[in-house]
Amino acid sequence: AVLPKNGYPPWYSAFESFYPRRLKKRLDDCFARPICGVPGRFVRCFDRISPDYNETFLYSGELKPLLNLSSYNYLGFAQSIGSCTDAAVKSVEEYGTSSCGPRNQIGTCNLHKETEALVARFVGKDDAVMFSMGFGTNANLFTSLVNSKCLVISDSLNHSSIRFGIRLAGAAVKVFPHNDMEKLEQILRESISQGQSKTHRPWKKIVVCVEGLYSMEGNLADLPALVALREKYKFYLFVDEAHSIGALGKSGRGVCDYFGISPSKVDMLMGTFTKSFGAAGGYVAADQEIIDRLRLDISTNVYGESMPPAVVTQINTSLRIIMGEINGDEGKQRLQRIAFNSRYLRLGLKRLGFIIYGVDDSPVVPLLLYAPPKMPAFSRMMYERGVAVVVVGYPATELISSRVRLCVSASLTKEDIDRILTICDDIGDKLYLKFSSGISGGE
Ligand code: PMP
Repeated sequence: AVLPKNGYPPWYSAFESFYPRRLKKRLDDCFARPICGVPGRFVRCFDRISPDYNETFLYSGELKPLLNLSSYNYLGFAQSIGSCTDAAVKSVEEYGTSSCGPRNQIGTCNLHKETEALVARFVGKDDAVMFSMGFGTNANLFTSLVNSKCLVISDSLNHSSIRFGIRLAGAAVKVFPHNDMEKLEQILRESISQGQSKTHRPWKKIVVCVEGLYSMEGNLADLPALVALREKYKFYLFVDEAHSIGALGKSGRGVCDYFGISPSKVDMLMGTFTKSFGAAGGYVAADQEIIDRLRLDISTNVYGESMPPAVVTQINTSLRIIMGEINGDEGKQRLQRIAFNSRYLRLGLKRLGFIIYGVDDSPVVPLLLYAPPKMPAFSRMMYERGVAVVVVGYPATELISSRVRLCVSASLTKEDIDRILTICDDIGDKLYLKFSSGISGGE
């Protein structure tokens, strides 16, 4: 494709023309700040508006460590404490950095097989298959699951990788308003009864796609209602657990664990290793028949490089820690820490009078800024006070619901969170972000 004169892809011009030039320049300050070092409890970010910053050499003098609320390091496995990253280092010595081939050629090693079995056991399914990228998992797997004779019913706030995947597969797509179970039921009823006899459904397959935890909203899929609808209307239920696996539920097994629902009630449990496991890549877990089919069929297994062995080791080690199979009760402690930290930050912010979206157990905490100019202001003020955050606005959110998404980590201490609350309190006053006098009570 020919890029427009400004050198950006076409979708970028919508973004660029929405924001006035001066604001756009300030927004550049918040996004794509290169980091240096491990994105753990602290992260070192380059200051893109410093006079010393150079896009090629990235030099901007001494980089101070910022308290990190910007990486999806929910259980704190990204940083080298404990045995996780050490195991990955050892794995590089043994297996090198790449398997130099796709899974269905010579790119599968014993680590892939062992870890897939471990993932399946963890999420409670027959089998699982892993891919080297989370986005690529969703983008590719639907082409093997559905075609133009199938209907996919998708939540309006589903991640772009799901939207991309289902459209690429050429399935008919219907979208229901976020978490609106009545509307979903209406779509199901209409779709099933479309001018056909009682015994013949108009679609070869119907798949309903949702996310376990919506990272922009911090809220959960209504899994109990979805499971009841699945029983009634007999469709395949697909749940993307990118943000919930490892981070939600008593034993970290995601939304099924959280709601006390058997994983057998969900047909496909997809997830990524980028968040709770401090690694990279994605998986899908399901009944044996589905996984056997995906293994053979998904193009990336035939034409794309397999997941690097050291990354697989990182996943394997962090999973075994979460499952309590190694390192004593370290896994349990991490799960307790993320649960405490999420609630402590969330309730602290609410008490200060901020508008926070989502459920109290969500490790991603969306704090509403509303007006777009407050995004660069909030980001910069946090940066100057030693905290790294991610702000989000149009087109990723509605026009006037810009927000900052604070990602909590088990690697943060209570004192870190107290410091963050004090800083937010100060910035909230300066930017007029407090919309109420705050809640009372809570923890
Ligand atoms: N699904 C969801 C719901 C996500 O939020 C993301 C990315 N944050 C992905 C899939 C893609 O995962 P990855 O970043 O691991 O490629």
